[in-house]
Amino acid sequence: MALAAEPQLDADVFGAAALDTDVLRQALRAAGLRVTAPRLAVLEAVEKHPHSSAEEIFTRVQQLLGSSSPQAVYGILAVFTSAGLARRFDPPGSPALFERKVGDNHHHLLCVRCGAVKDVDCVIGEAPCLTPSDTSGFEIFAAEVIFNGICEECQTASAQ
Ligand SMILES: [Zn+2]
Ligand SMILES: [Zn+2]
Repeated sequence: MALAAEPQLDADVFGAAALDTDVLRQALRAAGLRVTAPRLAVLEAVEKHPHSSAEEIFTRVQQLLGSSSPQAVYGILAVFTSAGLARRFDPPGSPALFERKVGDNHHHLLCVRCGAVKDVDCVIGEAPCLTPSDTSGFEIFAAEVIFNGICEECQTASAQ
């Protein structure tokens, strides 16, 4: 039985974005997930605005659906992350960010001033792209690199 918080989606909720929505529905089904309006809305928000926090995603989902709860959105994001539909990126000292680019082992440039995040391709192309000088016996399968710096906009702002 469907939960009250996850009604089945009627055809026209997304209006003109119907084509997009088809692709998103397929992505949900391919991940073995039932298609629901909240799941579609979360997936669409993450797809259109990469590196969004759960709070930002919640705001967009509310705009799309008219109603939702932060708890529902957090729950859906957790399901998406474990199903491989979304990737969670945890910048130090900031809320987790979510994106649809999964499985490409990409890394992130992070502006330490404004928190802007940009994707950067992995130089090697496959995980793990870095080997620690000492693995302490760990079997290493991935390395996440954050390049800390100051974005162009912040550089311009401080030059003025
Ligand atoms: Zn910046
Ligand atoms: Zn990214």
